Amino acid sequence: MNEPTFRKVAVLGAGVMGAQIAAHLANADVTVVLFDLAAPSGDANGIVAKALKGLQKQEPAPFVTRDRIHYIDAANYDEHLDRLGDCDLVIEAIAEKLEWKERLYAKIAPHLAPGAVVATNTSGLSLATLAAMLPARLRADFCGVHFFNPPRYMPLVELIPGPATRPDVLDRLEPWLVSRLGKGVVRAKDTPNFVANRIGAMWLLTVAHHTARLDLALDDVDALTGPAIGLPKTATFRLFDVVGLDTLAHVIDGMRVALPDDPWARHYAVPGWISALIDRGALGQKAGGGVYRRQGRDVTVVNPVSGEYRPAAGAVAPEVGEILRIRDAGRRLQALRDCPHPQARLVWSCLRDLFHYCAATLAEIADNARDVDLAMRWGYGWRRGPFEMWQEAGWREVAVMIRDDIAAGEAMADVPLPAWVDGRDGVHAAEGSWSPAEAQLKPRASLPVYRRQIFPERVLGEAQDRGETIWENDGVRLFTLPAVDAGILVASFKTKLHVLAQPVLDGIAEALARAARDHAGLVVWNEPPFAAGANLAEVLALVESSDADALDRHVRAFQSAMRSLRYAAVPTVAAVQGMALGGGCELALHCTHRVVAAESQLGLVEAGVGLIPAGGGCKEFALRAARIAAQQQYGEPNPAIYAAFQPISSAKVSKSAFEAREMGLLQPSDTILFNPHELLYVAIRSARALADAGHTPPLPPRAVKVAGRGGIATLEHQLVNLRDGGFISAHDFRVARAAAVALCGGEVEGGSLVDEQWLLDVERREFVALARTPETRARIRQMLDNGKPLRN
Ligand code: NAD
Repeated sequence: MNEPTFRKVAVLGAGVMGAQIAAHLANADVTVVLFDLAAPSGDANGIVAKALKGLQKQEPAPFVTRDRIHYIDAANYDEHLDRLGDCDLVIEAIAEKLEWKERLYAKIAPHLAPGAVVATNTSGLSLATLAAMLPARLRADFCGVHFFNPPRYMPLVELIPGPATRPDVLDRLEPWLVSRLGKGVVRAKDTPNFVANRIGAMWLLTVAHHTARLDLALDDVDALTGPAIGLPKTATFRLFDVVGLDTLAHVIDGMRVALPDDPWARHYAVPGWISALIDRGALGQKAGGGVYRRQGRDVTVVNPVSGEYRPAAGAVAPEVGEILRIRDAGRRLQALRDCPHPQARLVWSCLRDLFHYCAATLAEIADNARDVDLAMRWGYGWRRGPFEMWQEAGWREVAVMIRDDIAAGEAMADVPLPAWVDGRDGVHAAEGSWSPAEAQLKPRASLPVYRRQIFPERVLGEAQDRGETIWENDGVRLFTLPAVDAGILVASFKTKLHVLAQPVLDGIAEALARAARDHAGLVVWNEPPFAAGANLAEVLALVESSDADALDRHVRAFQSAMRSLRYAAVPTVAAVQGMALGGGCELALHCTHRVVAAESQLGLVEAGVGLIPAGGGCKEFALRAARIAAQQQYGEPNPAIYAAFQPISSAKVSKSAFEAREMGLLQPSDTILFNPHELLYVAIRSARALADAGHTPPLPPRAVKVAGRGGIATLEHQLVNLRDGGFISAHDFRVARAAAVALCGGEVEGGSLVDEQWLLDVERREFVALARTPETRARIRQMLDNGKPLRN
């Protein structure tokens, strides 16, 4: 792909956003120079240095691996402005003060490379105003690029043109943001707070307004306005604390000033009780408390009337909970509206006002309804956007309800629903999403970068190409995507959490047989999670069965399924996103190649349920250790075994694909992608490339030198210390020792030569022995019952 790219980026401002944006650029192999003011004393780069140090301690981690920090160069405006000269993109992320930005723009302007793009991360200032502060020659290359906090994890970036921005500037930035940084881009207009924060702030104010009107407790409202209605756990008032009450007040004040003609402006006022908390210094999480406060082990919540804190609970009334659980969205909304309980009134009133506001402002703030919905999903973590929620509940029926409430003076009486709402069945359809300005359904952007997204994040009602189904059973669907390459077969799992139950193993066998016959390669691709592991229920049933050999036969078949991916006639490619745990991780390990989303969690976690990897997971590391030993003449056991032993015996899960690579779960040659929606496309292309390059299956390893008894004894020595020190239980010891035995090739003389099947036999025997212990069975049972590990 020859997408435009930005190779060297200057980030101006090492504050909350600038430092984290720089970190994410470094994650994505972009060279970064991070600027801030020169420190008044000591090291002139002291402000940036301090910010970088802060990044290393921050949670969730801004860097994908610790070493990424070394790819950020620190700079200051007094000494290093000439370093802007070879940057093709400058992202300004300094404090939100017009005069400060103006002064900085004047300072940098003479040093910019010709044609360099200058982008501001402003949340609330007008692009037109900011552009006017730049010399006229730079305005065509100036725009807004609005990241959300934390920038590594929040997908949304709003791209905002200024009055003179050349279209190709946005067309160059968008593919780079999408493909290189993995972001979801929404084009916004130069209107106050752009899209997500305009709707998001309005929503928070609406909830606060109806909470006060209906005299509800803040923690109860959080219980109502989080996952119960498809919004994140932070809900409303917990989000106030995360954002910071002072920041929120600043945003609200900004909206009131910037939107004097907006009829909703009467909501754009900081509620009195929030101002009171701000006056008391209770600004939220950063100040140790705000709406909520932790007191010892208890969490308390403020009473907005008295200002006193009381223990927080947060409960949905049973009758309202019952309504919220109605599956049919239309019936659910109608039932909320009909229910007199104040909690139901709150949810209905807030959703009604949200829908009303979105309809009334759509033409002003966005090109089409899809952009609003995706902005709320990507920027605020909503499961569905506001228009999707409305459409799901029945577009026409909900429009009537809103109109009735307007007529009854319950909704914003002086704002009618726009005329375009009528005569429609929704705003999203197979052909596209409604654009009021153009009075038509708009398809998705046609930039080439989106051809890499076979399954982009679709909004409700949008068309979805599912490919051509070739075969399916209860566990797997096999399909091809003729639009990309009909010659590559794709297998997707259908089980819950994509566990590797028997029908999945049957499906893999079928896939390999068909691929060898009719196709050039096989891709295993699942929506996240990739695969949560083997089917523990099957394992438990086999342990408890009267057939003493049943479990051994089962594990043998599992091992054979994994091996078949390695030794297939065609290349096999795992396209991994989300969790690939236990057997799911072993499956990926055995493919010819892996294409992995950066935000993936891989791990051989069997120890958590008292088992060890026995689908070839231990064997893989024993083989690698032997390879390294052969190359480097290490004594036995060698460091590769130690490196594998710790994560396997402690069931460690990687926090990113990069960390998985450090743990040896991915090969240096595997592909890591920042945008998970590109996985399938790249995996298919990789399978094709491997096939075209003349893939031949490898031969099973023979004459593998193992560490044997000496290695086991060394690893066991560490375990004895941990057990006797009370850090691990007797059963943890037993499990970890079994892993040591498998990694060291069994109780043989150190340096013995074995083959692959020998290693598989050792790990299988250890697995079966562990599975028969009462402690392991108790661990498995608890995991199946409530998904939590048992420590015994
Ligand atoms: P911040 O206060 O954390 O950092 C601002 C940085 O600006 C500091 O490093 C400071 O040294 C520097 N600075 C202060 N005065 C300066 C001056 N006169 N000249 C040059 N630099 C100066 O701010 P932030 O939260 O990172 O916000 C930065 C920008 O990003 C703002 O425009 C803000 O609206 C926007 N933004 C913030 C968030 C967020 O959640 N914090 C999210 C999206 C966008």
